[in-house]
Amino acid sequence: MNKKSEIIVRELEKFFPSAKSELNFHTPFETLVAVILSAQCTDKRVNEVTSVMFQKYNKPEDFANMPIEQLENLIHSCGFYHNKALAIKKASKDILERFNGEVPSKFEDLLTLSGVGVKTANVVMIEAFGGDAIPVDTHVLRVSNRLGLVKTQNPELCEKKLEKIFPKKFWSQLHKRMVLFGRYKCKAQKPECENCPFLDFCLEKKEKYRKGARK
Ligand code: SF4
Repeated sequence: MNKKSEIIVRELEKFFPSAKSELNFHTPFETLVAVILSAQCTDKRVNEVTSVMFQKYNKPEDFANMPIEQLENLIHSCGFYHNKALAIKKASKDILERFNGEVPSKFEDLLTLSGVGVKTANVVMIEAFGGDAIPVDTHVLRVSNRLGLVKTQNPELCEKKLEKIFPKKFWSQLHKRMVLFGRYKCKAQKPECENCPFLDFCLEKKEKYRKGARK
């Protein structure tokens, strides 16, 4: 790692020493469903929906044969409910038919589930199975570009670049910390740049806040 990468790892750890997902789940299958629902939706809203839904339905067999309209009603407030309902239903069938009712713990197997893309598979790997991955969501993508780690709006290219920059042992925690940093400090609109430890190399704020330009 170069000096900048070391600073990023160290300072993000200071901000969020015990970073963890803000989605609520208790099993790998609940993790998968919550992550599917979280696309283009806040964790708070997903938790509101799943806190009720998981009390009654939280296994692949519950969703595999559920009428699609019923599932759509349950998850309606998460947005994109038709596509998300289809993804949950198809993934549930796949898990029952090909994985004996258990969410697979290998990244390659997760990717074969209907409606599960690279980001979802990576998040499930981290959260459900303690794997090493650095999934790129909107926050990780924004922060990575602002910090000059990448220069792309393509999440998969960003992920590949971050994997090269940071040793594997840092990936999962870095993902969680970058998500929280992007959500609460380096926000899309009005980032809180005062006293940010990355002012010296942040591309977003380099003119306004860089040392020497503050006076
Ligand atoms: S200086 Fe501002 S824009 Fe740059 S990383 Fe810090 S909070 Fe984000």
